Amino acid sequence: MPRIAYVNGRYVRHADAAVNVEDRGYQFADGVYEVCEVARGYIVDMKRHLDRLDRSLRALSIAWPMHRRAFELVLREVVNRNGVLNGLVYLQVTRGVAPRDFLFPAQAAPAVVITARKVDPAIAARRAETGIKVITVPENRWDRVDIKSVGLLPNVLAKQAAKEAGAQEAWFVDTDGTVKEGGSSNAWIVTADGRLVTRPAEHGILRGITRTTLLEVAAGLGLAVEERGFTVAEAKAAREAFISSATTIAMPVVEIDGSPIANGHPGSMVLSLRAAFFDVAEKCQA
Ligand code: PMP
Repeated sequence: MPRIAYVNGRYVRHADAAVNVEDRGYQFADGVYEVCEVARGYIVDMKRHLDRLDRSLRALSIAWPMHRRAFELVLREVVNRNGVLNGLVYLQVTRGVAPRDFLFPAQAAPAVVITARKVDPAIAARRAETGIKVITVPENRWDRVDIKSVGLLPNVLAKQAAKEAGAQEAWFVDTDGTVKEGGSSNAWIVTADGRLVTRPAEHGILRGITRTTLLEVAAGLGLAVEERGFTVAEAKAAREAFISSATTIAMPVVEIDGSPIANGHPGSMVLSLRAAFFDVAEKCQA
């Protein structure tokens, strides 16, 4: 079955899919995106992802490329045409195509691309058994990281640095020493007395959809939660650390900058959050 992409109103073979060279996403990173997990044939938390897309589009004064209901149908269609039962669906909306100029074009219609691909859930499950390593890097992004913009160069460089250091994620650290978030995930710790801590999403981080759903999972499990900043030192001394994102759900962190967390094995709280996630998340039949 050939992979199929949706590009500006047409379903095309992925290998032939193309956008205009003057797409403002390509020239200015003038666009936004979302990634939803697909699990067991369901698009996970689709409503929350589309709500956040709406927020990102508004923040940049980009119009919806089609009615939201139609968008939902196309998302499902792309998942189904690619036969994805487990994997992810990626969507991107840019300000559109216009002769290169910094100012917003008067005419351009927003451009949309949607792709989907299969990912074997056993890979993440295996990784969760051993946990991942994280490095820390100085925060060097703009202060509107709450907008899910396709401008991700600092994230690319941070994650590449992590890879070169033998780690799987990089945590951006503020000038005050507090952890902001990962290159493509939110950051969490569990304190010695069993409290779940994650930075408030009001400013300086992306309000992760998985983060929001995990807070509900935590409430359901009766866990104590503190939304506050934490330092790298506190994280290194924590009982557990983990990251969250649509593609990793809750993934244990067992090492930060070479220091093992607790006994260097995944903690029990992150694994129970991970296990309960799918029961709590919204499941939208693809
Ligand atoms: N922060 C950043 C910078 C991200 O790129 C992501 C993943 N898109 C997240 C947090 C996690 O967000 P979500 O749970 O919605 O995938």
